[in-house]
Amino acid sequence: MNQELEKIKQNVIKCTKCDLCKTRTNAVPGKGNFQSDVIFVGEAPGKNEDEHGEPFIGVAGKKLSIALDAAGITRDQVYITNIVKCRPPNNRVPKISEKDTCQEYLEQEISIIKPKIICILGNTVFNSILGGSEIIKFRGKVARKDSQLYFLTIHPAATIYNQKLIDVLKSDIVKLFKLITELKNKKEVMVDIEYSS
Ligand code: SF4
Repeated sequence: MNQELEKIKQNVIKCTKCDLCKTRTNAVPGKGNFQSDVIFVGEAPGKNEDEHGEPFIGVAGKKLSIALDAAGITRDQVYITNIVKCRPPNNRVPKISEKDTCQEYLEQEISIIKPKIICILGNTVFNSILGGSEIIKFRGKVARKDSQLYFLTIHPAATIYNQKLIDVLKSDIVKLFKLITELKNKKEVMVDIEYSS
């Protein structure tokens, strides 16, 4: 692992900056390829992630792996993290104060990896990073804020109880990696939504 990311990981593991440290089993730092062109950002760790200290290893993680597989991509090729690194009790949505406190770790991960595009997984992340809502209406689209590109899709957990959505997630992830190929080939990518800070 990249030394700077390793340092963030160690800081996350021992972090006590918000109350989620009191109820977690393990903090869950980001994990994956530090040279990845894309960072996948989810909402928060769930039960399995909390038990093992790794992101997206439960049922939702399997759905993400299935979608990556549809694009011919393996988990170890990408970097995966969450906006909040500790599990909220009973998987509730993270509070604004928790997201704000934890935000510095995500910002550090982004500044080290410098991804060509950030894949937003689900409504909470959409709202937290871009102030958006109703991701189902915007999924599959490309957004730009402060010269950083974002790709919007549903949270893999949404596909667990709605089998039709796994095809939606797969097609979005296939589209995402086509866009990444275009970006690597220095082609212009059409931006659907512009945000300003
Ligand atoms: S959620 Fe983030 S800020 Fe809160 S204790 Fe965990 S690592 Fe620290």
